[in-house]
Amino acid sequence: METLEEDLTCSVCYSLFCDPRVLPCSHTFCKTCLDSLLQVSTNYSTWRPLRLPIKCPNCCSVVELPPMGVDALPTNVSLRAIIEKYQTNNAPRPPSCQEHHRQPLNMYCIQDRQLICGLCLTVGQHQGHPIDDLQAAFIKEKQTPSLLLARLSEQRWAQVCDLAEQLEQDKARCEALVRQDKQEVDQFFLVLEGILARKKHAYLEALDKAAAEVSLAYDPLIHRVKELQEEQLDLVSLGSSVEDEDSPLAFLEQVHLLRERVERFVQTPLPSAIHLSVTPRAAAFLQQHWPTVTIGSLEQAPVPKVCCCARCGSLKSEVEEVGPIRETPSGWRQRQPVTSAVLLGLLLLAALWANPIGGASLGFSLLSRFSQLVHSLSSSLATSVRDATASACTALEAALQGWSFQLTLVKERISQQVAAFLKL
Ligand SMILES: [Zn+2]
Ligand SMILES: [Zn+2]
Ligand SMILES: [Zn+2]
Ligand SMILES: [Zn+2]
Repeated sequence: METLEEDLTCSVCYSLFCDPRVLPCSHTFCKTCLDSLLQVSTNYSTWRPLRLPIKCPNCCSVVELPPMGVDALPTNVSLRAIIEKYQTNNAPRPPSCQEHHRQPLNMYCIQDRQLICGLCLTVGQHQGHPIDDLQAAFIKEKQTPSLLLARLSEQRWAQVCDLAEQLEQDKARCEALVRQDKQEVDQFFLVLEGILARKKHAYLEALDKAAAEVSLAYDPLIHRVKELQEEQLDLVSLGSSVEDEDSPLAFLEQVHLLRERVERFVQTPLPSAIHLSVTPRAAAFLQQHWPTVTIGSLEQAPVPKVCCCARCGSLKSEVEEVGPIRETPSGWRQRQPVTSAVLLGLLLLAALWANPIGGASLGFSLLSRFSQLVHSLSSSLATSVRDATASACTALEAALQGWSFQLTLVKERISQQVAAFLKL
């Protein structure tokens, strides 16, 4: 086929011959190609004006044309017929159906908007679908875009603009709500953090107080014990220096002084050891009281008054709220000695009633002991009022211990008196 197409191609314009004309030399060219060749040759020719020379591009022979030019040349009729037939055969055919072999896609399915073949319509998947000629459908819909554009009215445009504005406003409103909520959340947690920080600070402060109480209780004792150590070391070195004294008079004098100091030192009572504990312990307290704390009652969450003393361990832990101060059990402890004194008075009266004769001596000795006891109690009571801290607890404890010792003595005396009374 390619060779045929070459044979049907003009050697001037390299296209299929268009209105092919034959030169006297038998070579054929398009009429338009010969026209342009004739134009060129006449421009540079000195030939006779009634004869138009033309040089064949194939064989270079010069031909003279009559005055009417290329139109005078005969048409290559057979070549023209061949070209027409060739063009018809090579015209682009409509594409064929993928499903139905060699069936041209020559119909337009309106429903599916695609090209189909006859079999598609009669037995295929487009059975019963409305169809049209592609070109006819194209012409029918030609005006549709402008009709559709006409439907985009001003009113519609206004509606769309309104909607856009409304959406923007609503978005801004919601964003403002979210911003406000973020501030609320910030504020809420700021308050919680504030309360927690205050609680923590209060608890740490209570522990600082407890630490101060520990120092107050132990430091004087430790100081006193150190003094005793130093005194003993002093006496040891003094003793060895006395041994080295040669002069009898000086030796005797120094021995006298040493004896006095040693006697005094040995008789000095040692301070009794104390064993304080810290109550309540933080881990236990927090575990007991804080798990039930709710966010709402956080302000009321308890912070204890931490106590460092020997007697508080068995008592219920003292819970003090940060706000108002409750009455603490220490009030009970301060009243206790007074109650005991009253009981002692009643006991004394009972003894006098039971033994009016011997009661005079018993009463006198009891009375003197009682006054001593009350004196010591009142002085220790004053101390406890003065230092409302751990030192108060220790002093109170010492006072109570002293009181119980006195009470034991009194009891012994009473039992002796009662035994003597029974013998009478
Ligand atoms: Zn040509
Ligand atoms: Zn030729
Ligand atoms: Zn088909
Ligand atoms: Zn269809």
